[in-house]
Amino acid sequence: MSNDWKPRTKLVHGGIRRSQYNEVSEAIFLTQGFVYDTAEQAQERFRETGPDEFIYARYGNPTVAMFEDRMAMLEGTEDAFATASGMAAVNAALMSVCKAGDHVVAAKALFGSCLYILEKVLGRYGVEITLVDGTDLDAWRAAVRDDTVAVFFESTSNPTLEVIDIKGVAEIAHAHGALVIVDNVFATPVYSKAVELGADVIVYSATKHIDGQGRALGGIILGTQDYIRETLMPYLKHSGGALSPFNAWLMLKGMETIELRVNAQSANAIALTEALQGHAKLARVIYPGHPSHAQYDLVQRQTNGQGGTVVSIDLAGGKEAAFRFLNAITVGVLSNNLGDAKSIYTHPETTTHSSLTDDQRAALGITSGLVRISLGIEDGEDIVADVLAALEQA
Ligand SMILES: *Cc1c(COP(=O)(O)O)cnc(C)c1O
Repeated sequence: MSNDWKPRTKLVHGGIRRSQYNEVSEAIFLTQGFVYDTAEQAQERFRETGPDEFIYARYGNPTVAMFEDRMAMLEGTEDAFATASGMAAVNAALMSVCKAGDHVVAAKALFGSCLYILEKVLGRYGVEITLVDGTDLDAWRAAVRDDTVAVFFESTSNPTLEVIDIKGVAEIAHAHGALVIVDNVFATPVYSKAVELGADVIVYSATKHIDGQGRALGGIILGTQDYIRETLMPYLKHSGGALSPFNAWLMLKGMETIELRVNAQSANAIALTEALQGHAKLARVIYPGHPSHAQYDLVQRQTNGQGGTVVSIDLAGGKEAAFRFLNAITVGVLSNNLGDAKSIYTHPETTTHSSLTDDQRAALGITSGLVRISLGIEDGEDIVADVLAALEQA
C-alpha cells in the first residue's frame, strides 16, 4: 500500500486488511469484540493497541479500520475515526475540543442539526458561540479571539451553495491558535483539498456521496494522529458513536466507485446549469462550478474548479411554481438526501429548513421558490429534458 498512489487507486485498494483466507472483497467482521490468547495479552492490549489489534468494536474493528485508513489516505490526513452518522461526527469533533467558557466561531449558513449542536448542546454547557457570515473574511477576523478554541463551517453551504474560503478562514483561526473544523460534504472527498488549504479536522457525512446509494448512515472525522488519538478518541470511545462494521463495509464498497459517480454527477450538474441559463421561469440558477457563480474564482483555487453535485434553482413563481415543478419530475425522486446515484429534488423551505424562522431563511437566501437538485448518475440528457418539461408545468 502506498501513499503515493493516485486517488483512484487509493479508493480501490487503500486500507485493505486481508484475513487468513485472502478474500478479494473486504471482509465484514461482524463482531463486537476480540479474543485474547492469554491473560497477559489481554492486559497488554488494554495498555496499548497496535494498528491491527482490537479490543471492542466501540473502540475499533477491522472492517471499520479499513474504511478509516482508506479515507485518511484519500484525504491526506494521518488518521481518521468513523462514526455512526454525519451528525455523530460533527458532534464528536466539537464536543471533544470544547469545555465551559470556551468560544467557538461558526458560519451561520449551517445544516439545522449542526446549528443545534452548536447553540443548544454546546451552548447549554457554557460554550460561547458566535455566528458570522461565512463568506465575509472580515466578519471572521472580527469574531475570532484568543480564547476561540475552534472555528466550524460547511465549506459549501446547503442549500444556497455559498463557498467559504478555507485558506482565508484557516489563516485567521490559526493566528489565534483555533482549530479549523470543516464539514466538507458538498465539496465531496473526491474534490477536497481541505488539508492543503489549512483545515485541521475534516468531517463528512458518509451517508452522502461515500455510500452514494441511499443505503446507510455513516460519518467520519479526519485529522492528525495526535488529534484523533489523544483528543477525539477518548470522547468517542466512551460516548459510543462508532460506525457498525456492516455499514463500514458498505462505505468501503461505495468508495470503490465514488470517483466515477461524483464525476458523472458533476457532469450532469454542469449540463443542467448550462441548459437553464436565462430560463424565463427562473430567478436564479446556483452552481459553484459555473462562471455565473459569485465565487467562481475561489472555486478554481479550492476544488480545482469542481462545483460538486448539487444545483439549486429559484423559481420566480414562488412556492406554487416550485411544487408544480416538483410534482412534474419523473427522472429522479422527491426526497431529502444528496449525493445519491438517483437524482433527488428537495424544497428546503418546507422540508429540510422548515424548522428555521422566516428571518433565518431570508438571511440564508432560502426563498419559497428555491429547489435543491442533487444530481444522480442517470443520463444527463434525460435529466435536462425532464427538468425543462417540468418547468413548462411550473
Ligand atoms: C447530511 C449532512 C450532515 C449530517 O449527516 P447524517 O449522516 O445525516 O447524520 C451534516 N452536514 C452536512 C453538510 C450534511 O449534508
